[in-house]
Amino acid sequence: RREQQAIERAQEESYRRRNDEIVRSHYNSRPELGLAKRRESSIILLRYFNNFIKYVLIKNNSQPYQRILDLGCGKGGDIHKWENAGVSRFVGIDIAEVSIKQAIQRFKVRNRRFSASFFAGDAFGTSIQHLIDPRDLPFDVVSLQFCMHYAFESEAKVRQMLSNVSNCLKRDGRFIGTIPNSDFIIDHLSKIPTDEPVKKFGNSIYSVTWQSDTLPQDGIFEPPFGHKYLYYLKEAVDNVPEYVVPFEAFRAIAMDYDLELIYKKPFMEMFDYELDRNPGLARECRSMKVLKSNGEVGIEGECREASAFYLAFAF
Ligand code: SAM
Repeated sequence: RREQQAIERAQEESYRRRNDEIVRSHYNSRPELGLAKRRESSIILLRYFNNFIKYVLIKNNSQPYQRILDLGCGKGGDIHKWENAGVSRFVGIDIAEVSIKQAIQRFKVRNRRFSASFFAGDAFGTSIQHLIDPRDLPFDVVSLQFCMHYAFESEAKVRQMLSNVSNCLKRDGRFIGTIPNSDFIIDHLSKIPTDEPVKKFGNSIYSVTWQSDTLPQDGIFEPPFGHKYLYYLKEAVDNVPEYVVPFEAFRAIAMDYDLELIYKKPFMEMFDYELDRNPGLARECRSMKVLKSNGEVGIEGECREASAFYLAFAF
């Protein structure tokens, strides 16, 4: 029996490594387009909107002179937002070493008002302790933007990710992120006829192709890990495997790591809520080009649906 368990563990480990490798090589092969090319992109309005959401999430959950840990930092797309927030120290970790090199370049393009270090490493499947300089601990904010869903492959990975977050975070610090909304996935899957052989939803900008053997039952993913789908986003993500983050299960497991939920909003709801409570944000919206074709602030059409796939949270 022990031998059988060892074989199963080895098989799980090799399966996990294969998925990590697909994600790593996908992001490693994405070229750095530069600002001018990014502005030409056909999903530019979606990028502007998602950037605005992250900008608000960061602004609402940080203060000047704080220390920030960004897990899954990618090419460093949020460096500018953290600089705006007035932070004093930034540490970024990503599994894709090419993205880390690009993040370092992006940081160095001009004199920054804060110091930063970047490391290539797996922040979900392994401990990140060896990458962190003890003098940087504890961090005031740990941020996981558009990446935590990769951890929901297995319970072990989710627990390792949460222990990395919790071990690095100061008491009363903030853990913030953006992930696909499991309720949106349940809602869209339920509209696909049961006899449809390939379960897929989306539009010309994004798509989700279901890969898991099981579907949610009465709105619940059981067990809450390993529900795989392939995600496509035009000009950005080519059918890369991702995993559903069943939000209630995530919230419950996070409590084991002393993380308490204080904010959770699907993107569209968040946008309306934040502008309602702070009408001054409309000016920032305009300067960040978050505009519909009639000149009003917001997002419309297929880009709106693609962005509505996500939610933002803070613990
Ligand atoms: N956070 C950045 C942003 O918002 O622009 C990048 C988001 S990108 C969609 C997802 C990132 O997660 C990729 O850069 C990928 O390499 C990273 N990632 C995936 N699995 C990871 C892991 N196990 N450890 C660290 N980073 C990971």
